[in-house]
Amino acid sequence: MTDRLKNKVAIVTGAGSGMGAAMAKLFTAEGASVVAADLNKDRVDEVVAAIAKDGGKAVSIKTDVSNEDDIQAMFKLAKSEFGQLDIVVNNAGIMDNMAPVGNLTDDMWKKVFAVNTDSVMYSTREAIKEFLPKKQGVILNIASVGGTNGGRAGVAYTASKHAVVGLTKNTAYMYQNDGIRVNAIAPGGIKTNIAESMGKNVDKFGYERQSQGMGASPEPGTAAEIANTALFLVSDEARYVNGAVLPVDGGWTAY
Ligand code: NAD
Repeated sequence: MTDRLKNKVAIVTGAGSGMGAAMAKLFTAEGASVVAADLNKDRVDEVVAAIAKDGGKAVSIKTDVSNEDDIQAMFKLAKSEFGQLDIVVNNAGIMDNMAPVGNLTDDMWKKVFAVNTDSVMYSTREAIKEFLPKKQGVILNIASVGGTNGGRAGVAYTASKHAVVGLTKNTAYMYQNDGIRVNAIAPGGIKTNIAESMGKNVDKFGYERQSQGMGASPEPGTAAEIANTALFLVSDEARYVNGAVLPVDGGWTAY
């Protein structure tokens, strides 16, 4: 433990599993107090219990990030529990069913955009309300290589993560003189539970097309490797990093 986030308060969404759980654990180990939000209350409670066992400070909240009231409750909790807010990590997300636009249903499009994109807009809007008056704050969005490249998922996921990249860059630019930094990580294939969120009826054509893109991917990375990168980006060490979309993919998109 090196206290790189000493006296900081962070919100992490999707903290019940995968990258979110790894970030909540690492941030608390580095001295932050964390609001750990997830739709799955049982899982996020386990994460918070593990953090407490290791001497860290975290509180859980059941949050559907696609619901603006839930997002506002999550922000309120940070203030009521810890008295301040410094860092917001918009991490919660789901996969689509790999469908190309010709096979896409309205339901899949709306569901994936609600969870992956609307959520980031609600949360960013709320964060700006908090950060702008005090001229200080950090937002980190977990996008995807699907947010920078065309052949890594179906159209709904790909477009939803491209939108997250746009939200990241526009917000970074708009508030660059206001002490607010906004960056994104674009993870490649990472070993987590994300496959659980894959639509039931996986699109055969879309799946085969995106599988060709998988060919250049190295071995999957770990949630801890994403958390290490996130720690740097939310810490003061990254003071001059703003509007960046950093691939953490073992070189997959270098091809
Ligand atoms: P994961 O499934 O292990 O964790 C995601 C968490 O988000 C789960 O705990 C889930 O309960 C929660 N969640 C889902 N819908 C939610 C909602 N509506 N409200 C609140 N919480 C919700 O997956 P992960 O791989 O750790 O995913 C984290 C992020 O990384 C996602 O945005 C995902 O798109 C992105 N990503 C993952 C990969 C990968 O290969 N795993 C690659 C690129 C990007």
